[in-house]
Amino acid sequence: MSTAPSSNLARWLVYCRPGFERDCVEETQARALEAVENTGFVRLEGKPHLTFSKLIFARQLLELFNIINDLPEKDRLSPILATLAHSTEKFSAVFLEVPDSNEGKTLSSFTRRFQPILEEALRVQACLVNDPTLPRLHLFFPDKTRVFLGRSQANYTSDDLNGIHRISMAHDAPSRSYLKLAEAFEVLLTSSQRAQFIQLGMTAVDLGAAPGGWSWQLVQRGFKVIAIDNGPMKGAALAHPAIKHLRKDGFSFRPQKPVDWLVCDMVEQPQRVATLMCDWLLNGLTQHAIFNLKLPMKKRVTALTEALELIHKLLNNKGIIHQIIAKQLYHDREEVTVFLSRGKR
Ligand code: SAM
Repeated sequence: MSTAPSSNLARWLVYCRPGFERDCVEETQARALEAVENTGFVRLEGKPHLTFSKLIFARQLLELFNIINDLPEKDRLSPILATLAHSTEKFSAVFLEVPDSNEGKTLSSFTRRFQPILEEALRVQACLVNDPTLPRLHLFFPDKTRVFLGRSQANYTSDDLNGIHRISMAHDAPSRSYLKLAEAFEVLLTSSQRAQFIQLGMTAVDLGAAPGGWSWQLVQRGFKVIAIDNGPMKGAALAHPAIKHLRKDGFSFRPQKPVDWLVCDMVEQPQRVATLMCDWLLNGLTQHAIFNLKLPMKKRVTALTEALELIHKLLNNKGIIHQIIAKQLYHDREEVTVFLSRGKR
């Protein structure tokens, strides 16, 4: 059994959607120590500071402080305890995690069984204590024989196991896209923003609304919705009294009165969607927007950076103070979701 040699450079572990490892490395601008296609994680070295909220493709960002290789399958506990016994660092919680890959799926039943055993042993060793201000310990099993040891601080990284925010599907939602907007509200807004910006009776326009998953999510949160799409709404969204469906073009439609929210899921070039969102904000037609930017096949980080820079430029030119947060959510595939709002975070 071997542990990794220590280095003075900062080391990071990032979880991501499998297939987006290279994008993860590119946006951090750190040196890749391990970035294998479709594994769902990357190991990086070099950058002294990385900020989770600014990373689009990262589901989780950890400071990596040790690696145990050649972990015996029959006794993973002893080497982990021995490694942690060398340090005086204490933690508030322990997360046992796996990548979002086929390899990860085969390991998840082990981590579930191992969790209470390890927790108890770490409490005996006084490594795990009841102090929520302390960092959290993450043990990430990339495969059967290795474990990466990392730390995270609550509020600065994802609080979700494996960096995945689970949402349960409403049985009556017209499409699975319902989950994506639900996740966006939960992950991209802070709890105080949710309390302030989402209130009963608010109004929203949903561009590219059919078959109605996003409109249905908005209705569940108490919104009145104008749903714009040439295609048909379906199921529960078809004739709901809080949803007004108009068969119009999403790029030319403008409401008679300003609305509180604009959401947009039209499949279009990122620059075109970015310009449209700014037009609504600049004309005072909405305060907040959530929208998808569909990624091209190649140069995804470049296309995304250009679209986000365009938004900043268009709004800054008119003196509009704004905040923007973009993430590839768990329910996103070849796209990222953006929350854009007037005012400061
Ligand atoms: N958000 C929807 C849901 O939750 O069910 C799914 C939207 S689907 C990914 C994209 C939709 O955008 C399609 O229904 C399509 O008809 C619509 N769309 C694309 N271009 C449009 C345009 N220019 N105007 C209006 N709708 C458009």
